[in-house]
Amino acid sequence: MALIVQKYGGSSVADSDSIKRVAKRIIDTKRAGNDIAVVVSAMGDTTDDLIDQAMDVDSNPPAREMDMLMTAGERISMSLLAMSIHAQGEHAHSFTGSQAGFMTDARYGAAHIRHVHPQRVMKALDRGEVGIVAGFQGVNADGDATTLGRGGSDTSAVALAVALNADVCEIYTDVDGVFTADPRIVPTARRIARISYEEMLEMAAGGSKVLALRCVEYAQRFRMPIHVRSSFSHRPGTLIMPDDVDVDKIPNLETGQLPDRPAAHTDRQRDMTEGRS
Ligand code: ADP
Ligand code: ASP
Ligand code: MG
Repeated sequence: MALIVQKYGGSSVADSDSIKRVAKRIIDTKRAGNDIAVVVSAMGDTTDDLIDQAMDVDSNPPAREMDMLMTAGERISMSLLAMSIHAQGEHAHSFTGSQAGFMTDARYGAAHIRHVHPQRVMKALDRGEVGIVAGFQGVNADGDATTLGRGGSDTSAVALAVALNADVCEIYTDVDGVFTADPRIVPTARRIARISYEEMLEMAAGGSKVLALRCVEYAQRFRMPIHVRSSFSHRPGTLIMPDDVDVDKIPNLETGQLPDRPAAHTDRQRDMTEGRS
């Protein structure tokens, strides 16, 4: 039995139907014999909308209050997702960042994770439930809610995967994986089947928002395999993992979809060279 952490971004849980679809996907993976912990982002544009609401009442809001407000977005999606899993016949238990043991420093709006103590999530998994954790948030030493910076749910997911010693961290989004360029802007962009942490760091640092930079740094440091894939299809995704780990160690891959070695590595280098010439 594998332990899988799945992260669903805002685009994957934008409305009730999407939440039901994601709940079914989680249940299918669980019924295939895996333990599942989920990290979820706020629905659709919720975080942007919360920021707009804050600006309507205070053009210079206190950072602490901003974080109190912004953590609300993920509380909505985590509880709705738990309910949808319940409605479809499985047990799930949702946790705020604080309840899931995400201890951070005090930098409101850009907090860094210091420790993750996910005992309550582990107990939920032991009871046979799906553990659902609000992404993008933690708690500081004063007990106040903090946020990790925009796109921070990716980092929450990898940090939870490391703390639970998961076999893989799956990042579900609205494209089929990591592409040679943003596929919404460059129609000829190609999916990269496997990429090294170093190259993914370069892409993230260059502004590709498919994965947050700090998430890739965290995964590299702890050698956590990441599988970026679409929540809207069952097509192959992108694996980011140490070069010396075999693909067959990664659970929940549809067979024959991903190469053993990072063949795309070469493609990516060629693409970058062509881009510069
Ligand atoms: P989520 O809501 O799942 O967190 P994001 O919007 O943060 O999703 O990230 C996914 C988006 O990243 C895609 O819709 C795509 O437009 C964009 N993107 C930018 N660069 C890349 C790239 N190189 N490969 C894949 N997607 C990319
Ligand atoms: N909801 C947060 C954001 O929009 C975090 C995330 O989606 O990763 O930035
Ligand atoms: Mg994102």
